[in-house]
Amino acid sequence: MRRTSISIEAAERLKKLPPYLFAEIDRLKRELTAQGKDVIDLGVGDPDLATPSFIIEALSEAAKNPVNHRYALDQGMPELRRAIASWYRSRFGVELNPDSEVLPLIGSKEGIGHIPLALINPGDLVLVPDPGYPVYKSGTYFAGGQPHLLALLEENDYLVDFSSIEENILERAKLLFLNYPNNPTTACASKDFFTSAIKTARDCGFVICHDAAYTEIAYDGYEAPSFLQAEGAKEVGIEFHSLSKTFNMTGWRVGFACGNAKILELLGKVKSNLDSGIFQAIQWAAVKALASGREEANKNSKIYERRRDLLVDGLNALGWRVPKPKATFYVWAPVPPGYTSQELAARLLKEANVIVTPGNGFGPNGEGYFRMSLTLKDERIEESLKRIKKLHSR
Ligand SMILES: *Cc1c(COP(=O)(O)O)cnc(C)c1O
Repeated sequence: MRRTSISIEAAERLKKLPPYLFAEIDRLKRELTAQGKDVIDLGVGDPDLATPSFIIEALSEAAKNPVNHRYALDQGMPELRRAIASWYRSRFGVELNPDSEVLPLIGSKEGIGHIPLALINPGDLVLVPDPGYPVYKSGTYFAGGQPHLLALLEENDYLVDFSSIEENILERAKLLFLNYPNNPTTACASKDFFTSAIKTARDCGFVICHDAAYTEIAYDGYEAPSFLQAEGAKEVGIEFHSLSKTFNMTGWRVGFACGNAKILELLGKVKSNLDSGIFQAIQWAAVKALASGREEANKNSKIYERRRDLLVDGLNALGWRVPKPKATFYVWAPVPPGYTSQELAARLLKEANVIVTPGNGFGPNGEGYFRMSLTLKDERIEESLKRIKKLHSR
């Protein structure tokens, strides 16, 4: 007799992925919403602000042209690669060859997830910041690599402390992920920090991938540097960037990598076997966005800055210990005494219907902290403060 069903089981690489800690929060959120509760979600890192209309118009125009309906070039339109190079020159003073040192991506997550496939052999070590953006770890697992977590500690201003990494780990490492301004800790790195990372990479022979998703969201006049501004960066690494956070374009899926030509060629090789480029109308819209310079991001940063002050000053007035971030649209803070990250998140959700992200969701060194997003209107932030204040008086 023929069998009518097969048993479907996840591949080992999927089983290796860390458990999705936010699943329980999602479940509770749905449950409370179904009960008619007004849940305030300070958990999501997705701009609530709209994409600027001149970018939408560029998309609409380009979408009408049948030339743009076909497969795009894998390596991106020359016009987009040139726009990226000009943006880097005017923003960071970094010179890039648009033909070989720039690679457009379907969002930077795509490139971050794929880069280990280009550089890592099964069993190779990848240095991954902890707490950190989860894709560094999952991309490593997909390539058969072994993530080695690097603790980002408050006492080191959440910078990677290279002197604390054992010699044999440094020697075995093939790739290091860095991310400043950092998600979730909001920490910022100086050019000198990048220079010391580059020296370590040279000495030990690993590649650096710097994730620069948040350089354009900054406060109090702070200007985040590019990794590529540091001496020798192009010899050891690449930088990921994205239009997502800078231009409120998370749903559009357009980002890029730039820097070392050889690394980009290898990443491009992976991509040309997996995807077929970014929809050209989106590429034309991205050209327009980049050509507009820093005006839009500065406008957004002003809005987030006001929300930051509202939220942080409000919580500190209640006796919490919440530092003000210099960059990113997150606030990262230690949980009040007597709570674990999960316990705080659970209490705020159940008793105040306010969602925050428990720090341990970003890795074991996030335990004892929580993250809040500034991607909500003032009124919602004020309302969440009111509810948290009520908890205090219980
Ligand atoms: C949002 C984010 C990204 C991904 O952005 P894309 O939309 O994929 O370009 C990458 N890294 C960090 C740290 C992020 O927070």
